[in-house]
Amino acid sequence: MALKRYEGKAKILYATDDPQVLRVYYKDDATAFNAQKRAEIAGKGALGCRISSLIFAYLQRQGIPSHFLQQVGDREMLVQAVEIIPLEVVVRNVAAGSLCRRLGIGEGTILAEPLVEFYLKNDALGDPLLTDAHIALLGIATPSEKQALESQGLVINRHLQELFGACDLTLVDFKVEFGRDRQGQVLLADEIAPDTCRLWDRRVEGTSTARSLDKDRFRQDLGGLAEAYQEVWQRLRSVIPPSP
Ligand code: UDP
Repeated sequence: MALKRYEGKAKILYATDDPQVLRVYYKDDATAFNAQKRAEIAGKGALGCRISSLIFAYLQRQGIPSHFLQQVGDREMLVQAVEIIPLEVVVRNVAAGSLCRRLGIGEGTILAEPLVEFYLKNDALGDPLLTDAHIALLGIATPSEKQALESQGLVINRHLQELFGACDLTLVDFKVEFGRDRQGQVLLADEIAPDTCRLWDRRVEGTSTARSLDKDRFRQDLGGLAEAYQEVWQRLRSVIPPSP
């Protein structure tokens, strides 16, 4: 039996024979509001794994290094072992979610420039928003490392906007995490999937609720989460050429 290294809300990390490689198992569990809301949604894990694998491979071809090595089986991927930097890097193109709640900006407002925010990865504290001074105070990243993460977030945003745009999806916002490998190189890590992005369907008219093809369907009890993820998967498949 493979040794379980870590179990999170949506994924389990297992050791492999190679200490530098981990196997990530994507669960069917959906959680929101700091795991106060939970459900199991059949097919979600496999779709999240497939979408994330496709996006990591796509980004690697665009020159964005990540921990992704390959997808194995239906709902697992092999990744390079990294030490996760305890920051959630959120990039926003359109106002939604906590930005609207915090600043009173109307949902759907297009931001003049993409906005990058940093949150502390700490469930017990409710993942608080961090200022630069907080990041320095906590010793999580030096100012230049923080600047590099911000730049990398913006580059990833440009690639993802282009990719999702080709799928008739508006990339409203997304969250990424980074980790350090044994050599200290910073790599994109965790996942990029509709669990961690807001995607609004440009083929549908109406409110964000009607257009949402992401985890907001679960957060707001809209139903059809697996169907939405399936739609995202199919559109990505139709625009991303198969890996050589
Ligand atoms: N997000 C995430 N994990 C988190 C918090 C946010 O993946 O722990 C993603 C979320 O799906 C959205 C973006 O980051 O795409 C911005 O989320 P926001 O701050 O608006 O928080 P929310 O309204 O979801 O609480």
